[in-house]
Amino acid sequence: MAMSCTACRLSETRTNVVFGVGDPGASLMLVGEAPGKNEDLEGEPFVGAAGQLLDELLSGIGVARQDVYIANVLKCRPPGNRDPKDDEIDSCKGYLREQIRMIRPDVVVTLGNFATKLLLPTEMGITRMRGRRFDWWLGATLIPTFHPAAALRGRPQVREQMAEDFALVANVLEGMATAPESSDPVQTELGLT
Ligand code: URA
Repeated sequence: MAMSCTACRLSETRTNVVFGVGDPGASLMLVGEAPGKNEDLEGEPFVGAAGQLLDELLSGIGVARQDVYIANVLKCRPPGNRDPKDDEIDSCKGYLREQIRMIRPDVVVTLGNFATKLLLPTEMGITRMRGRRFDWWLGATLIPTFHPAAALRGRPQVREQMAEDFALVANVLEGMATAPESSDPVQTELGLT
């Protein structure tokens, strides 16, 4: 049971388990990295500044937060918001797998490197992965984009690129996008698909 999980050291320092929030029948699922301070206190993902940006990006494509499902790779806050450790991700990933199985979204958006590298077999960084669509597990389409925190602290282009990526999400959701890209990034890079 996630709410009483003690599978890793983060259970010793968390205030709340931040399991996930949203519509269990959502066609769009967002996967972030790990709860931050506000999320740990409130028990809900993306309630801080990064969450506000996420809400803006969603409303830019006409989607309300309550219509999507939001989860993180880690369900408990790493102290001081440090990066997740490999063993923490391993201990926690079964929860995310079950969430995806239950929600069965049409589109999964990975926010940043940790979610992208967990859900796609890639060593490529998010700057190269973002904005592409991959045919994925359970018939879903997976689209990586930056983590909203990167847009808050980074160059203004990051936010613009995230808006582009969300526009692609909207296209896929509406079934208007062109044929899926290959999930082979090298083929895609060479224009072979
Ligand atoms: N960053 C994340 O990756 N997830 C949250 O829930 C909040 C901030």
